[in-house]
Amino acid sequence: MNQNLDKKPIVILGPMESESAWLIDQLDQPKENAVGAYTFREGRIDGYPVVVCQCYIGVVNSAAATALAIAQYDPLCVIIQGTSGAHDPDLHQGDIILGEDLVELGSFYTQHRDEGQGSAIFDWTQPGAEIKVNDGIERVNVLHSDSRILDVADTVPYAEGRVKRGVIGAADIWNRELDVIAYLHRTLGTDCEEMEGFGVAQVCAQLGVPCADIRVISNSEWHPQEEFNENYGEQCQMFVLHTVRRLIADQTLL
Ligand code: SAH
Repeated sequence: MNQNLDKKPIVILGPMESESAWLIDQLDQPKENAVGAYTFREGRIDGYPVVVCQCYIGVVNSAAATALAIAQYDPLCVIIQGTSGAHDPDLHQGDIILGEDLVELGSFYTQHRDEGQGSAIFDWTQPGAEIKVNDGIERVNVLHSDSRILDVADTVPYAEGRVKRGVIGAADIWNRELDVIAYLHRTLGTDCEEMEGFGVAQVCAQLGVPCADIRVISNSEWHPQEEFNENYGEQCQMFVLHTVRRLIADQTLL
């Protein structure tokens, strides 16, 4: 058996290289476990088993990596982290959002409209994802990070911006239309958007594993000078590593 996996590991996912490579570099005694295109780096942080995976961009990739990680490692928790775009005009590059609520932004039902009537995006309804709950199947639009993980993240010192508990939306879409961004912020309360969080939370909910989504603001359409800057990915990884060290030290989930 891989000596790194003598206890249930903490799994950390980051979609892009700029959102995962720094964390991979921090692992002690690293070993690689590739499942097709998904490579899981098994190592240790402060002596405790941690697995880091660059899961690639998008809901499907992150959900696949989550399912594979859970099937292989039976982890203590799965943390998805990385960059995001602000929906709240008060947020700026470098601010951190702890995803208390994780909202699905990518599945819609539309009303019938005749040819030539165009589209009415603000009339679309959101059915939600199918989740097995006890004996039945429910449609769910909002899932949650494990509050114990966010309580620990809340104690991490951070000088580069605000740390706010909030709402993170996810879909395979990069919204740049301010009327749509304002609508999502107003109707769903989203603080920011990215392309993975809800998918990870959905798989974790179905398989009974605690999860958390922690994001840095890397771009905001509200502030034209705040264009996407992937360097913020490293800042988020540093914050998440600090959180993980505290989870390990406090034995929060054990
Ligand atoms: N220009 C980059 C874009 C990155 S793709 C490229 O093409 O390489 C989007 C990734 O960044 C996703 O993993 C997503 O989680 C995150 N992201 C950051 N800001 C985002 C935004 N405004 N909308 C959606 N995803 C965003």
